[in-house]
Amino acid sequence: MSKNSYVVGFPRIGEQRELKKVLEQFWAQQCSFDEVERVASELKQRHWKYQKEAGIAYISSNDFSLYDNMLDTAVMLGAVPKRFAHLSGETRYFAMARGNQECVAMEMTKWFNTNYHYIVPELSVEDTYCLDASKVINEYNEAKALGITTKINLIGPITFLGLSKRVDRGDTYELLGKIVPLYEELLANIAALDDAVTVQIDEPIFVTGVDTKVLSLIKPTYDALCSVSEHLQVIVTTYFEHSNEATKVLLNTPVWGLGLDFVYGKENLEILSLVGASNKHLIAGVVDGRNIWKNDIEASNALLERVATHVDSAKIIVSSSCSLLHTPFTLKYEARMDAELKNWLSYAVEKLDEIVLLSALCSRGLHGLNEEEISVFQNNVDANKKRKSSSRIHDKAVQNRVSSITKFEREGSYEERIVLQKKRLGYKELTTTTIGSFPQTPEVRQARRDFKNAVITQEAYEAQMKAYIDDCVAFQEECGLDVLVHGEPERNDMVEYFGEQLNGYGFSQNGWVQSYGSRCVKPPFIYGDISRPKPMTLMWTTYAQSRTQQVMKGMLTGPVTILNWSFVRDDLSRDAVSKQIAVAISDEIDDLQKAGIKIIQVDEAAFKEGYPLRSDKIAEYERWAVRDFKIAVSSAMKQTQIHTHMCYSEFNDIIRTIEAMDADVISIETARSGNELLKIFKEVGYKQEVGPGVYDIHSPRIPSVEEIVEQIEKLLEVLPKEQLWINPDCGLKTRKWDEVRKSLRNMVRGVQIVREKLA
Ligand code: GLN
Ligand code: ZN
Repeated sequence: MSKNSYVVGFPRIGEQRELKKVLEQFWAQQCSFDEVERVASELKQRHWKYQKEAGIAYISSNDFSLYDNMLDTAVMLGAVPKRFAHLSGETRYFAMARGNQECVAMEMTKWFNTNYHYIVPELSVEDTYCLDASKVINEYNEAKALGITTKINLIGPITFLGLSKRVDRGDTYELLGKIVPLYEELLANIAALDDAVTVQIDEPIFVTGVDTKVLSLIKPTYDALCSVSEHLQVIVTTYFEHSNEATKVLLNTPVWGLGLDFVYGKENLEILSLVGASNKHLIAGVVDGRNIWKNDIEASNALLERVATHVDSAKIIVSSSCSLLHTPFTLKYEARMDAELKNWLSYAVEKLDEIVLLSALCSRGLHGLNEEEISVFQNNVDANKKRKSSSRIHDKAVQNRVSSITKFEREGSYEERIVLQKKRLGYKELTTTTIGSFPQTPEVRQARRDFKNAVITQEAYEAQMKAYIDDCVAFQEECGLDVLVHGEPERNDMVEYFGEQLNGYGFSQNGWVQSYGSRCVKPPFIYGDISRPKPMTLMWTTYAQSRTQQVMKGMLTGPVTILNWSFVRDDLSRDAVSKQIAVAISDEIDDLQKAGIKIIQVDEAAFKEGYPLRSDKIAEYERWAVRDFKIAVSSAMKQTQIHTHMCYSEFNDIIRTIEAMDADVISIETARSGNELLKIFKEVGYKQEVGPGVYDIHSPRIPSVEEIVEQIEKLLEVLPKEQLWINPDCGLKTRKWDEVRKSLRNMVRGVQIVREKLA
């Protein structure tokens, strides 16, 4: 064991997604809760064992959760919304997470800038909170019984409040005085567990550039928490960015150590001399906890050497940059992955060895390594060297093309383009369309799987997809929709589909990462320069167009969304990678329009997800994200209409940026908020056309004609009919055909009624 090695947290869903499977069985009433607990305890044991065997000194407990750690924290503090008060135990817990017949679930939202989603606690000044420390204590004892003394992970009180919402309106931080005493009580319980217990208190909210009011809460809170007991070693951990403002404050509190992210928060280096002078322990996050690349041990070691010029090396503890929750489990199951690619990667289990090796280097230096360690080190150096020089990564042709582009935007102003487009397309006001996908039936999924596994021939596969497209087009014509789509039956996922056809993309078999609750995603990864060897959507789109006289809209995913939903190479800036994707997409647009496609939608569902955590970095993100969307559509002729789609309902902060993207039409997710969020479009004098979703596709509910009429009339209070498109608020792939048929018929009928009224 290396005594200065540390892991912020370990993934919990299970390397074969065991937790997902047992939870879903339990929810479907196919197994008992005992079975869930049995699997959970097996997973915890396995994960502790992995870390122990790798030689990690600081292993966590309470990083496990049956659903989410924020939810666990709410339960621990007794912050249970009233509507769940009559329930108890696991029934209550899962009802809070997922809702039940009577109660709607608590809200869920993104955990900082990751793709993990947490449950948002609902607080109120009237509530009384009280501590239930059982989960925390039990998990510690569970590990102890296996001979593993863990550090205990907690979400800190300031982050807990910062991420919660007040149901009675008001500032969540006002409740700090109610919450801190419970944390003190908790820490007193923890301190009684052993002679010395290490507690990792996560305060990632500190990286968001918190204001002076929040900063002023830090010292009193941590003075109080640290004085609970001498048996405690309190570590405050931040990640995903630097937290310099908060670090400066924490250095003047009795905390034992600070956990800082040196991968995504390079600025943390700037105040190392203060950290050194404080004599506190530094948990140095140098192994990337949210990407899949093998660590460059030489580079990380150099970084640690730099850290050691300020901080006593006996006080440096080598760590992952954040919880490994955001990486897949182990490469062990990637049997089908190309050996060269695989040798560049490292998932959670492999990262453990990297941390241990770096900690050996940090304490003993290269000369202090034993033979085995030297060979591990040498293998790492070789793998990184090979990756750097691999011809699969560097494509001169792509680099030259991207660096020499001269066209950064479309020709013609919006005003000029829209006139040409309206003339060419001849559409009326309140034009109806959909967002792209139609229901993904079991047959369609099966056909895709069969084709992938070579069970059916390409001809058979294409015939089946074309039959789906035929039905889809026929339905849309019959239903009376104006602008049609082909339905996207050939796409498993809006990013993976494009990744599979682009050079520079790799795929895993088992690279699952938890997204929320039992749900996981398997992001593809970008390892090399991106290029498009041949058209990606042309065949399907032109086929669909050939089946109808009406306008067929081509469907693409935009560069920023492709980037944000992939693991991205770490040897090139995100900005540069995104630009390469943009160029590939612009070629696709050109092919589509040359083949007679008159409207092309470039989805940017994840545009907002990429926003940096710190406001001073937003301008830079917007600069290249807008640039690359515009490069992607730069090939479109004036008369080709470009649509985009975004899946949110909050545009206030980014409306100018959206406008700068200069799409002719944008469809957005407004169905659940009436016309509220549309008001911003009016306020800023947004001139392009807008398709606010008129019904919520996330629910199986079928909107009535009257509801649609009412919704459209509300929209008309804000924007003129000439500027409005009518569509559902997102793609229909998760819905059933029966629901979709009825909903869309009602939507079209509603539009007809409004049009008649207007005439
Ligand atoms: N065109 C995609 C679809 O309809 C858009 C999906 C999304 O916005 N997430 O499925
Ligand atoms: Zn959407």
